[in-house]
Amino acid sequence: MEYQVLLYYHYTKIEDPEAFAAKHLADCKEIGLLGRILVAHEGINGTVSGTIEQTEKYAEMMQNDPVFEGIVFKIDSAEHHAFKKMHVRPRPELVNLSLENDINPHEITGDYLSPAEFMEEMQKEDTIILDVRNNYEYEVGHFRGAIMPDVETFRDTPQWVLENKHLFEGKRVLTYCTGGIRCEKFSGWLKREGIGESVGQLHGGVATYAKDEETKGQLWDGQMYVFDERLTVPINQVEHVIVGKDHFDGTPCERCMNCSNPQCNKKIIASEENEHKHLGGCTIECTLSPNNRYVAKHGLTQEEVAERVAALQQEYAQV
Ligand SMILES: [Zn+2]
Repeated sequence: MEYQVLLYYHYTKIEDPEAFAAKHLADCKEIGLLGRILVAHEGINGTVSGTIEQTEKYAEMMQNDPVFEGIVFKIDSAEHHAFKKMHVRPRPELVNLSLENDINPHEITGDYLSPAEFMEEMQKEDTIILDVRNNYEYEVGHFRGAIMPDVETFRDTPQWVLENKHLFEGKRVLTYCTGGIRCEKFSGWLKREGIGESVGQLHGGVATYAKDEETKGQLWDGQMYVFDERLTVPINQVEHVIVGKDHFDGTPCERCMNCSNPQCNKKIIASEENEHKHLGGCTIECTLSPNNRYVAKHGLTQEEVAERVAALQQEYAQV
């Protein structure tokens, strides 16, 4: 059976996000999709997986709804579902930017650049490429020469930009994100604040850029982090440069995982070998967590855990 993963967003007006979410969840379940969808007064943002037939049925349902007129789906083929459950959640915002003065991308947003235009502009002298995703996403892959704001969450990015305004002076600012949704608002905010000379955004995000016949994903180094069970997907079809580094030993690596301590759940890059060695914990404290998921998942006995923890404690003590 062949599957597909759909990635999409649409800024539109949804009167009652709660009611819409409940109805939409029922529709998705009826079709047999799995995934995660966020609904707000300002629109919809989702990733869903299903068989080709199921995903096509969903896309058709959405395209036939006047509320979602013009919605664009980025489609990846897959061998199986990319999710375990189906969630549709009402939220105050589609992306958590929490601006005091919110941005409506229909009113103000950066210039939309096609993948080919983005690729060309990226290579110009007077441009600055700003990655508006999270640090862990940047770490496993990004556009060559892109800068990463040193922030914990997307919400903190505006403050970082204001504090580093000098970096953007006189420059054409190019922003990009996974599917384009974060750029819609963020590039609008940059424009409103007068950051840089002008602002452009990668239309359709890196997901679209990767599939473009002209760009073939070029100038992207590493993999792209995605918010489903695949964790990462390849982008550059021409060359493969590894930029990720193993959390534990710093060696080149592009395998993403979550810390096995559910209270931490930090996203890290680590080899299977190091995951095994550290029982999935990003620190010794996480390894020793009584709720360590790795221990349960691998059915380790008390003895096995004790043995590995002892070896690990010795190693940490040596550092
Ligand atoms: Zn941890």
